[in-house]
Amino acid sequence: MIKAVPGTRDILPGDIPSWKHIESIIESVFSRFNYKEIRTPVFEETALFARGIGESTDIVSKEMYTFPDRSGDSLTLRPEMTAGVVRSFIEHSLDKKQNLNKLYYVAPMFRQERPQAGRLRQFHQFGAEALGSNDSMLDAEMIIMAFDILAALGLKNLTVKINSLGVPSSREEYKKKLKEHLLPGFDKLSNESRKRIETNILRIFDSKEEQDRELTKDAPLLIDYIDEESLLHFQKVKEILAGAGIPFEIDPKLVRGIDYYTNTTFEIVSGSVGSQSALCGGGRYNLLVKELGGPDIPGVGFASGIERILLACENEKSFVPAPEGIDLFIVALQKGLDSFVYKAALAFRRRGLNVDLDYLGRSVKAQMREANKSNSEFVLFVGGEEFDGNEVVLKNMKDGNQFNFAKEDLENIYLNIKEK
Ligand code: AMP
Repeated sequence: MIKAVPGTRDILPGDIPSWKHIESIIESVFSRFNYKEIRTPVFEETALFARGIGESTDIVSKEMYTFPDRSGDSLTLRPEMTAGVVRSFIEHSLDKKQNLNKLYYVAPMFRQERPQAGRLRQFHQFGAEALGSNDSMLDAEMIIMAFDILAALGLKNLTVKINSLGVPSSREEYKKKLKEHLLPGFDKLSNESRKRIETNILRIFDSKEEQDRELTKDAPLLIDYIDEESLLHFQKVKEILAGAGIPFEIDPKLVRGIDYYTNTTFEIVSGSVGSQSALCGGGRYNLLVKELGGPDIPGVGFASGIERILLACENEKSFVPAPEGIDLFIVALQKGLDSFVYKAALAFRRRGLNVDLDYLGRSVKAQMREANKSNSEFVLFVGGEEFDGNEVVLKNMKDGNQFNFAKEDLENIYLNIKEK
């Protein structure tokens, strides 16, 4: 038997109410802040991600689904969305249509990671990108939107961590200092971190290895080296967050190792999901649009993993999705009424009601069971003495009340259901 590829998941009908719930919250929060949805292709030229995410990152160096297509071009299933959004922004000159582009997405991503709880190979992210302004309001807005979405899902066990990376020029001096601090302990560093000393030294802070943590414990901190203007920017972000009631803490070791990241970085972690605890991450990337061949336009954004959020919601029992139901189930009390039943169902469906009926020639009892299982608000009984007298019976399943209608009077049946 062929099974789903490890790290991929079916989202079955029973899972859909939770997904719809989170999707509706995502959409309404982004809409309130006037972000517009963007949809870009699932695959792109590999070079886009190599440049847009950074060759030295785990994503690009180890995790991408990259393949040659039939003409030999190297393509990659998107591992994240920012690169694609920025590519699209540049390609369509969106900056000419709008000074500030506030965009959001909800889409599947692909990374060849080792699957475990909260870590998949196909997973879904929602996120936002604001392109065209360096205002700290937007840095704060990313955190506020992400937090509001998580809070609207009823999540409580959340920590918002923020930091500022300054700009590359002020980071250079810091990197030298960090290197001076780490080199005497070089032999004690993990293999990965030894490599990172040359390729991407800031990323050593991301290491989970005990020996690396020991050496970075007393390392100098980037925040003490960043420039005046960046500090002011950071100060404003903190003020806006405080004013917005967002509980945050400063994590001076929250870094991103790529040069196009500037100023704010943030992460929201949950205490309810085990080791894969980051629910979302983001930050400012003022140099990325230019890096990808576009104009010198600043940007800021975040991305958040839906499966991981749903795991946190399950663990905290943070919400119960509204049960799915239908308006009407038509029960046939005898054989031979298919044509009437189907036509009536179709008429109601075309008026906008959600309607079902029996397709399996089942007994009345089994049809009633199906009506209950479908969570139907009304049942229409067709058949028996009433039908001989040209009537049908509509039962309200909530209060048990029944009303007779002339069998041709579908309009009044419809109105009766609609009014409830
Ligand atoms: P990143 O793009 O790596 O900053 O990830 C942003 C968010 O996407 C994370 O905080 C997670 O919630 C989610 N995420 C990243 N990788 C995975 C994965 N392999 N499986 C599930 N969720 C993920």
